[in-house]
Amino acid sequence: MAKKGRVFSGARPTGRQHLGNYLGAIQNYVALQDDYDCVYCIVDVHALTTVETTQDLRKNTFEMALDWLAAGIRPEESILFIQSHVPEVMELHTYLSMVTALGKLTDLPTFKEKVAQQPENVNYGLLGYPVLMTADIVLYKTDVVPVGVDQAPHVEFAREIVRSFNYRYNTKVLIEPQVKHTEILKVLGIDGKAKMSKSLNNHIELAATPQETSARVMEMVTDPARMKRTDPGNPEVCNVFSMHKIFSPAEEVNMIDAECRRAGIGCVDCKKRFAANLNQHLEPFRAKRAELASQPDHVADVLNNGAERARVIAQETIKEVREAMQLP
Ligand code: SF4
Repeated sequence: MAKKGRVFSGARPTGRQHLGNYLGAIQNYVALQDDYDCVYCIVDVHALTTVETTQDLRKNTFEMALDWLAAGIRPEESILFIQSHVPEVMELHTYLSMVTALGKLTDLPTFKEKVAQQPENVNYGLLGYPVLMTADIVLYKTDVVPVGVDQAPHVEFAREIVRSFNYRYNTKVLIEPQVKHTEILKVLGIDGKAKMSKSLNNHIELAATPQETSARVMEMVTDPARMKRTDPGNPEVCNVFSMHKIFSPAEEVNMIDAECRRAGIGCVDCKKRFAANLNQHLEPFRAKRAELASQPDHVADVLNNGAERARVIAQETIKEVREAMQLP
């Protein structure tokens, strides 16, 4: 079946992925493969703008690739690769930087946030981040970028840079990427308050063992107003219930909804049920992940092959870009 176009998406190598990554991004990456030619990139160069040391970079990249592949990225169809393995992106970044106004970059809220977060390390990479991101997108002749509503301005900025380039060199060589609005699920951590995140240590790793997963689930905060077993609870404010709605069968969800409200089920039992359903859901993922983890050379081959295929597109774009710029 003909595909609708090419999708590009990238994510920093953050190592083992958690439920928030899975529900918020990876599941969507997997689904998009049915309708689009997908290019998925682990953006290790972007990571350099914030990391203090690169000693975990290779390990984190490998772990993340394992999770993506085990979750259903199909490398025989989609292109999965590491950003730095296609150095053409650095060249395009440089050309695009010449058509990007400095004032626009310094005005971006994301840049200001980073400056506030790491005032001792305000490097050029932080400022040029959106330009490199634009190079990532357009280098692979991307048609659409899947983003949540709050990330749409990033793609709009990329479109502006593309327009500036095409206008400056009187060309149409770079494609303005379109936004594909995607519902990005906001998954709360086990604290039930903040978004699930490794840095807050409120996450549940996909690759954790069933025992580790159950232990994390048992730590989950429930309806804070339910102080004792005999108090009726309110599932609508309970993060465990939100997760049940994703991972448990409808009948069980309905039962919990009703029983919680009349104190017919306790939170311990409710969490045990969720842990069992989550572990069952993750069983095929874990089996595939273990198989891949035992074949690191195969995973390296997959990533190298992805980079080779990405590079064919990248070199074609760079050739067209140089011609449009009339570079000698
Ligand atoms: Fe939440 Fe379940 Fe406890 Fe109700 S019984 S408060 S849904 S954990």
